[in-house]
Amino acid sequence: MPAALKFDNRFVRELPGDPLNTNERRQVLGAAWSAVRPTPVAKPTLLAHAREVAALVGFGPEDHDSSRFAEVFGGNALLTGMQPYAAAYGGHQFGHWAGQLGDGRAISLGEVINARGERWELQLKGAGPTPYSRSADGRAVLRSSIREFLCSEAMHHLGVPTTRALSVVTTGEPVLRDMFYDGRAELEPGAVVCRVAPSFIRFGNFELATARGDEALLRQLVDFTIARDFPHLAADAPARVAQWFREVCERTATMLVHWMRVGFVHGVMNTDNMSVLGLTIDYGPYGFLDDFNPHWTPNTTDATGKRYRYSQQPAVAQWNLERFADALQPLFPDLEPLKAGIGAYVERFNAEYRAMLAAKFGFPTLDAERERLAQQGLGLLMEAEGDHTRFFRALTEWNGAVSDDDATAVAALGDVFYDEAKREAAAPALADWLRRWQASRTAADVDVAATQAAMEGANPRFILRNYLAQQAIDRATAGDASMVHELLDTLRRPYDAQPGREAFTAKRPEWARHKAGCSMLSCSS
Ligand code: AMP
Ligand code: MG
Repeated sequence: MPAALKFDNRFVRELPGDPLNTNERRQVLGAAWSAVRPTPVAKPTLLAHAREVAALVGFGPEDHDSSRFAEVFGGNALLTGMQPYAAAYGGHQFGHWAGQLGDGRAISLGEVINARGERWELQLKGAGPTPYSRSADGRAVLRSSIREFLCSEAMHHLGVPTTRALSVVTTGEPVLRDMFYDGRAELEPGAVVCRVAPSFIRFGNFELATARGDEALLRQLVDFTIARDFPHLAADAPARVAQWFREVCERTATMLVHWMRVGFVHGVMNTDNMSVLGLTIDYGPYGFLDDFNPHWTPNTTDATGKRYRYSQQPAVAQWNLERFADALQPLFPDLEPLKAGIGAYVERFNAEYRAMLAAKFGFPTLDAERERLAQQGLGLLMEAEGDHTRFFRALTEWNGAVSDDDATAVAALGDVFYDEAKREAAAPALADWLRRWQASRTAADVDVAATQAAMEGANPRFILRNYLAQQAIDRATAGDASMVHELLDTLRRPYDAQPGREAFTAKRPEWARHKAGCSMLSCSS
């Protein structure tokens, strides 16, 4: 291990802590965190790590190979300077205030300052119970840990703001889980992920203080978050809390546009899973769209109401920001700045969403006519049950004229469709659309080189398809982690052609359509 990682643990130094330090489940009042140590595990073994995240934190290649690395990131040892804690937060879950939630299975180890002066908080997930664990065990299973690890890194390389992942360590201990909530609990291998971000502060941290009427703590949390995580906001400006709220709204908008661009469905957009930095956080029952179905959610727990389905995410983010605004109300005698922040969310989202759609379709901008074309294209993609990622790659790689023959025109899109009959039925409209798309795409006002470059940057070849993640999990569970490593490596360059890895760009195979882990996931991870 490196002689000295430099820790500067501001969260525990500057915010009030829980006076009790027994690790018992309880309501924690008047405090932002509780001191708690990870619970050691039987046999911590490093399954995978992201070398670029390790480098960001300040580790060298020799460090990951040491057994000490697995011990620290499995929760069996602490490095000098670490001060482990669990944070107190609440949240609205599926539209309802849920009271205190908190880090029930996450334990932050400390805040590293790296050689470039950047702050990176290290947080274990699955490292044992905390005062916030309620009735659960504080542990995580291997399958969900691999999913969080791979997706954190995949999203980063796709250009989506996200928390990062340093490592997955298997614990050598089984964890009991009822994956389908049907009373058939099974023992599964356990694991611990170490995730890394400048801050893990969520909307829920503020909501909990306000729900309890603890305005002093609310103010402390706000001042702290601005000082540590938004240092560019003027320290003494009276309007800085308003500016800060607006910035959180704008960052959230940007994150949402990226989710929509790559077809990401978070699955559990509760307010405790919303980062103030606008980072994608808490990878649970998430998924990427295979066929373009805006009504899809991977989360079986949400199968009935589909509150968190793909198309609903921008509206849910706004609803969450409104709950965040509610939490900040005690600091705003005049509510106008909070309303303005929400307005900024809508404005930023709309502007960036339009620019994103234009980029994906290869249009210079989205004027009224091109907007209609884009919406028609998406509508046809849904009707024809086409693959979101492969369709946009086919447009990006489109070469030559669109055939006058409908079937030939549609066939030129390649292996994009999941249902023969639907593709056939949609073929005339789709072929007509392709002709109009191409005419628009090559019109006099288009700088083709510039729009082509924008398409290349907006339309990935590789996403973390659920069935691929599940295959990697199945193999890792059987003792072979090589597919985890290969997926991680592939997803480092999601926009590049990678000869030999074409199989990872394939559309979802038919066997995976209804298989657990491949198209549906529960919160029970
Ligand atoms: P999530 O849906 O993963 O965001 O979790 C919601 C809340 O439940 C958070 O407070 C988590 O810390 C807590 N939680 C989820 N799983 C566990 C677990 N296995 N043990 C303890 N707490 C958990
Ligand atoms: Mg959570």
